Amino acid sequence: MSLIVQKFGGTSVADVEKIRAAARKAIRAQKQGHRVVMVVSAMGKNTDLLLKLAGDVSQSPPAREMDMLLSTGEQVSVALVAMAIDDLGSKAVSLTGGQIGMKTDDSFSKARIQSISTERIERLLDDGNIVVAAGFQGIDDDLNITTLGRGGSDTTAVALASVLGASACEIYTDVDGVYTTDPRLLPEARRVDVISYDEMLELASLGAGVMHNRSIEFAKKFNVPIHVRSSFSDAEGTMIVAETESKTAPVCGAAMTPNEARVTVLGVPDVPGKSLQVFSAIAEKKIAVDMVVQNVGRKGRADISFTVRQDDLKLTLAALDKVLPAIGADAVTFDDQVSKVSVVGVNMADQTNVASTMFRALADANVNIQMITTSEIKISTLVPRAEAGAALRAVHEVFRLHEKPADAKSWDQIRAERGETADLDTLVSRLQDDALEALTLTGISLTKHQARVTLYGVPDEPGIAADMFETIGQAKIFVDMIVQGYDGEDGSTSVSFTVDESDLKQSLEVAVAIREKHGMRDIQDGSDIAKITVSGIGLRSHTHVATVLFKQLADLGINIEMIGTSELQVNAVISATNSDKALERLSAAFAASLEAGR
Ligand code: ASP
Ligand code: MG
Repeated sequence: MSLIVQKFGGTSVADVEKIRAAARKAIRAQKQGHRVVMVVSAMGKNTDLLLKLAGDVSQSPPAREMDMLLSTGEQVSVALVAMAIDDLGSKAVSLTGGQIGMKTDDSFSKARIQSISTERIERLLDDGNIVVAAGFQGIDDDLNITTLGRGGSDTTAVALASVLGASACEIYTDVDGVYTTDPRLLPEARRVDVISYDEMLELASLGAGVMHNRSIEFAKKFNVPIHVRSSFSDAEGTMIVAETESKTAPVCGAAMTPNEARVTVLGVPDVPGKSLQVFSAIAEKKIAVDMVVQNVGRKGRADISFTVRQDDLKLTLAALDKVLPAIGADAVTFDDQVSKVSVVGVNMADQTNVASTMFRALADANVNIQMITTSEIKISTLVPRAEAGAALRAVHEVFRLHEKPADAKSWDQIRAERGETADLDTLVSRLQDDALEALTLTGISLTKHQARVTLYGVPDEPGIAADMFETIGQAKIFVDMIVQGYDGEDGSTSVSFTVDESDLKQSLEVAVAIREKHGMRDIQDGSDIAKITVSGIGLRSHTHVATVLFKQLADLGINIEMIGTSELQVNAVISATNSDKALERLSAAFAASLEAGR
């Protein structure tokens, strides 16, 4: 008999009527012949209320007590849902995180799942019960209650679906699926029928707000299909499945993160280990750094720019202030009036074209791009906040995201084509050994024979990036990574891109033409470079990846010239000298994670 997991978010159990409606959905699924496990969040805004209560009692509530408190929200709702099912004449048993054997590490408020024991759930299901499990919570080795972080019930649900070998994980929520962009920001946003794990991961981390990021990591690792749908209707929503099954357009979605801040550390001595110093000072404060652009050094100095959330700006500046003398950098500048606009798509094969199309759309909307970073499935731009809305609209429009792609696969097609994951059991039993949510790497590789072109003194005005990459695209040069960052020297920007070594000569010719046309200061190229790529699942939620990378490279005296990160890969462009050594060192440093992804 097939098993399904149904997760109900806070809004879906916000009051008595909604609790009964949720109960009816589960009963109906059971009557249709499924074994049913429900995962339930705290009712409505209860978690927020509990947080506020804690804040009123104490200025800094101990993390352990915070988790003890917050976990009660889910305990209330599972009991009520089980009662509702009983009242409707079916059998149900509610269970806390501890009772489902949800074992986590002991990082309160952001605990990671290590293992789940399934026997008790299986036994209750065998007896004809609907099992109602509390989302968001677990226990550590000492039986302390832990929580997984805000929105963590999604992760509970997908994790349970994984270890129970569920045929699907249904996420019932107050929206009816995943949209091409946030419909509150852009009314023409379109609900998509199907999206891939990779795209969803990227959109979720860009603030799409629909699903907890770590839940998608689980789904991808264990190949669990997710169905995001409205709890207030029976309409089908969005199915999140593997990339091979989804077949989406080159660009599947756009996202805007409004409240970003740019920070630039000017005049960082261009010697290995300096970026490590900058970023470990920030990591120590648990601040997430997003777009990172290190300008290629000149006169022995480089500028490092990155973005953080606007809320984290103060703390970031304070952390930098402390280490600036030790680093020997000149100064720090910032801009707290910026937003990030990105496009995502796993089928961005012709990235030069996608990039220039995006830049042209922004130019036509008179939006000035301040920073650019790219990864294999994403292009992100930093723009003035006042122009961010127009930017999102322009990008959504140019990729025709409001229109359903003609060759989109249907739901039924995907269902029919979907095979069983042959070795799911082995995978689960291997990772059940305390490693369910560990970083799993699928590979670390080196691409040699790369070359870089950097243009300095790029005027900071709309249209330049568009012109540049259109010209490069017309020359049929395939560009891999693109970064644009602040150029401390005169407040203009610098743009770097990488190409295959064999395309360098032609790229330089194009660059010279562009420099002439726009009156740029200087061109530089580097040819003895390589790209090192770390691929896997959980690269961004496990924040130590970048630090380990920086550390290993610094130890070898290797400078990082460019860096691009996504949910799936971290790419660093380094000099080819010593790059084999770097590969070796990184493979050793990440041995356990590579083993987990084997
Ligand atoms: N109740 C928790 C929260 O509000 C967990 C969840 O809803 O997923 O964050
Ligand atoms: Mg929630």
